[in-house]
Amino acid sequence: MDLSGQTVVVTGGSSGIGEAVARDLAQCGAKIMVTARREQRLRRLAEELPECAYLAGDLTDPSLPSQVLEKALLIHGGCDVVINNAGIIETGSVSEINIERLCRMVRLNVEAAYRMAYLALRLFQKQGWGHLINVSSVLGTKTRERAGGYAGTKFALEALSEALRMELAGSDVKVSCVQPGLVRTELHEHYEEHPADTLGMEHPLRPQDVARSVRFLLDQPSHVRIPRLLVLPGEGKI
Ligand code: NDP
Repeated sequence: MDLSGQTVVVTGGSSGIGEAVARDLAQCGAKIMVTARREQRLRRLAEELPECAYLAGDLTDPSLPSQVLEKALLIHGGCDVVINNAGIIETGSVSEINIERLCRMVRLNVEAAYRMAYLALRLFQKQGWGHLINVSSVLGTKTRERAGGYAGTKFALEALSEALRMELAGSDVKVSCVQPGLVRTELHEHYEEHPADTLGMEHPLRPQDVARSVRFLLDQPSHVRIPRLLVLPGEGKI
């Protein structure tokens, strides 16, 4: 796929899926703008990729999403794709879950993601084209015991995406969700054990598998819409 001349903004680009997407799309010739909190990681990535800029910051700061888009326009001269990917996970039983951390997750996975989605789409509407890809989850359409809070944030993103897709039908502005199953990344670092190990899953997805799916979403003719793409590891039963 040739993305030369196109600019892709990736949130949560300092690790895992976001970093893999940035690397993958840079290989396709895209100019990249990454954001996340860990500046050193972003700087290293920007040094490695041919045309990659970054803005470090906390996306729950209400001013950051617009700053990221503005910097992409300023440095790369445009913004054609936004990968709305930054997210965290908090799970736990009624008695154990940390409610403050749960609410922090809602602020990032829902509030910041909504803010970025609307700002990106206003820009895309104005220019007449663009593709917003929201990184949802297999838990964007189903829930599990102790994971309702996290699933709820992804259900929220799915509902928003579907409504936006309907609203923008007939235009050249696309909205998609990618719904990964379990991926081995830093998302579960605060768990005692990675869920893949707890489940005895030998081959969870790799971040590159999700990056390839994102590339597939982008690599469609202009009359095609893929509103959601579920990507599961071969061992994933649920
Ligand atoms: P990682 O933890 O590797 O990546 C999360 C990214 O989000 C990091 O770049 C992190 O950077 C960034 N981030 C976290 N908090 C903030 C914040 N407050 N402000 C700005 N950036 C922030 O996990 P994944 O790559 O797995 O997660 C990416 C997305 O994929 C998430 O939305 C997750 O819900 C989703 N997903 C993951 C699955 C999995 O099994 N791993 C399965 C399904 C969906 P930094 O810490 O530097 O800020």
